[in-house]
Amino acid sequence: MPYIITSLCTNDGACVEVCPVACIHTKPGAPQFYVDPEVCIDCEQCEIVCPVDAIFKDIDIPAEHAESIEVNAAFFRQNKAAIGPVPFDTAWAMIRSAHEYAEMVGATVTAVVVDEAGAPIAVGKMDKAEPRSAELAFDKAYTAAAFHVATATLVPQARQPSLRSLVISHRGKILPMAGAIPILNGVTIVGAIGVAGSSRPEQDALCCRAALAVWQNPGH
Ligand code: SF4
Ligand code: SF4
Repeated sequence: MPYIITSLCTNDGACVEVCPVACIHTKPGAPQFYVDPEVCIDCEQCEIVCPVDAIFKDIDIPAEHAESIEVNAAFFRQNKAAIGPVPFDTAWAMIRSAHEYAEMVGATVTAVVVDEAGAPIAVGKMDKAEPRSAELAFDKAYTAAAFHVATATLVPQARQPSLRSLVISHRGKILPMAGAIPILNGVTIVGAIGVAGSSRPEQDALCCRAALAVWQNPGH
């Protein structure tokens, strides 16, 4: 039951800030923001913050805005790139970049790249990295792919019942700890990278940033 943004939207972007799965998007020149119905988890946070009451649950949408259900879905059909996951060679280059950054700061880590569904594409464990770092890096990457956000943003919510129940339903694979970020192609999530093993999760996150630079600047 996704939420829907109607033509009442005034484009201020307030809902984007609170969406835990980053499923609200627009593009330059578009008259409003839109919710991706395939990603929305029905949390109602956007509806609460909208200053002009432009957002409705699809089953509660007023008849005069019913066409917005198709308008929201069509936006993502047209703008989501029909692309596959991160190619292995690119994933491996990202992992090497994460390792290089870790080496530079004196850390030993494992880096994992997963696809948009959280399945592993490539895993790279540095010599002397903690054995458990591989599992932690995968869990972080899986979490970033599932929530479509950097895992650092989930840390403040870690004790909330809604997130704890998701941890249980994902059989412990959800890990709200810094050190993973989604990999995006436009508005489409194509995977995530997770890193674990350095002395601080924030340093793992910096390794991820180094890896993401490979994705964002291919050929450099
Ligand atoms: S209901 Fe929650 S998940 Fe869905 S668009 Fe709104 S904030 Fe995002
Ligand atoms: S909070 Fe409301 S007005 Fe603002 S962008 Fe979202 S839907 Fe539009």
